[in-house]
Amino acid sequence: MKEPTKNALNMPINKNVGIPKCHWKRLSHQKRLGQWKEDYASLSKASHTKKFFPTAKCRLERNSFFCSFKVNQFLTGHGNFEEYLKRFHRQTSDVCDCSAKEIQNVEHIIFRCLHVQDCRKILQQKLGVPENDWPVVLISLINTKPSFLYFTEFVHTCNYK
Ligand SMILES: [Zn+2]
Repeated sequence: MKEPTKNALNMPINKNVGIPKCHWKRLSHQKRLGQWKEDYASLSKASHTKKFFPTAKCRLERNSFFCSFKVNQFLTGHGNFEEYLKRFHRQTSDVCDCSAKEIQNVEHIIFRCLHVQDCRKILQQKLGVPENDWPVVLISLINTKPSFLYFTEFVHTCNYK
């Protein structure tokens, strides 16, 4: 007959005893989050998106901001913009048809496109940005919930095509 103490020593050790499942979930989440932050920082792509969200932390702080399909196009630069369409051979020219004759991309539309001057003036007024301080850095358009809402209104009301 075996001794009881010897049997207890041979049993596999359960390391999870007494540690709540939520703790492991939180650790797993933190590990994935850390990896995503490192990946985002080292990513050479998404240079346009990084003008709005320079860091993963900056993006996470705005997680509650609702982004529609059209707003996502502006935030990523992947959308119905002549520059983007030309890149994928959907257009022969990347120049906007407004008289500014600039490449039509997100920054052109927000800051200089002559087709959307009225919407831009409303955006500037709501943001409280004087004409002399325009253009602003893109991150300032989404820095606070109110500024993000003004930017969203601009995106949805401007007709740049
Ligand atoms: Zn234009």
